[in-house]
Amino acid sequence: MRWIGLFAFSFLFAQEWMIIVHGGAGNLRPEHLTPTLQATVESALKEALEKGGAILAQGGSALDAVTEAVCVLEDHPFFNAGKGAVLNENGEVEMDASIMEGRTLRAGAVASVQHVKNPIRLARIVMEKTPHVLMVGQGAEELALKYNLPLKEQHYFYTPERLKQYQQRFSSLNTETVGAVAVDRYGNVAAATSTGGLFLKMNGRVGDSPIIGAGTYADNQCGAISATGHGEYFIRTAAAFFVCMLLKQGLSPEQAADSVLNTIKHLGGEGGFIVITPKKHYAMRMNTSAMFRGIMSSTTPPKVWIFKEK
Ligand code: ASP
Repeated sequence: MRWIGLFAFSFLFAQEWMIIVHGGAGNLRPEHLTPTLQATVESALKEALEKGGAILAQGGSALDAVTEAVCVLEDHPFFNAGKGAVLNENGEVEMDASIMEGRTLRAGAVASVQHVKNPIRLARIVMEKTPHVLMVGQGAEELALKYNLPLKEQHYFYTPERLKQYQQRFSSLNTETVGAVAVDRYGNVAAATSTGGLFLKMNGRVGDSPIIGAGTYADNQCGAISATGHGEYFIRTAAAFFVCMLLKQGLSPEQAADSVLNTIKHLGGEGGFIVITPKKHYAMRMNTSAMFRGIMSSTTPPKVWIFKEK
């Protein structure tokens, strides 16, 4: 009996885990990035990977890992999610987020929230505490209040860079939405995505990030996907679900992501995906020149990239 227990224990903990994060795709070139900014972004991505990785290393769930990794990026002022979210045409933030668990196909999402410090936590509450999948605006914020999530005044989300961007109406070359996908020791996958959406978007516009099947999808039968890019195209192509279906048909994560990105490109859209499968196959693909991204696993320390590799 003792040996069986020990065998089961070592089998369980011999299982490998992996986490991938992204911080948005865009047409950034090396000359657009100062060394200081590059170092800041890289260390934020690493911090997110380490936060999620520590959870997975301790036998935690992919769901917890993606939640916490995304929170790190939401709290970081550089990224377009949580603090640092871009401003809409009215000069306000309206944030969207979603999360999905591959084992159960449970999902939760919020759109157009304006005061929730960590929209990904609210998306998870929608998933776990309500019979619904997507909640928006004031109703979503009332739910946040009910579950004691920190709410902030609008000015908390503003950063000097975003205010300057709004005053000068210049669009960033990168979108800086954030996302994470992970597979835990038990072979369960999860995905999470969070964003302030597109700079100067119309008040009330909702992108792909909170739309299950567009910006986020997770199914243990195929894998977990988080997208970034021009959301309208990702909604029109049911992008994340499409990648998942191609994985199911036997395409590799790279082939599946590239195939959907090609379709999006033909329609006129740009962006990228991070993809992970229960067997730890993965891809970080984009049809832009850059995507902030990184990976960590039970066998590899955190590694991050910004530009497309040749
Ligand atoms: N996909 C997001 C949106 O359209 C933006 C992004 O990924 O940067 O809202």
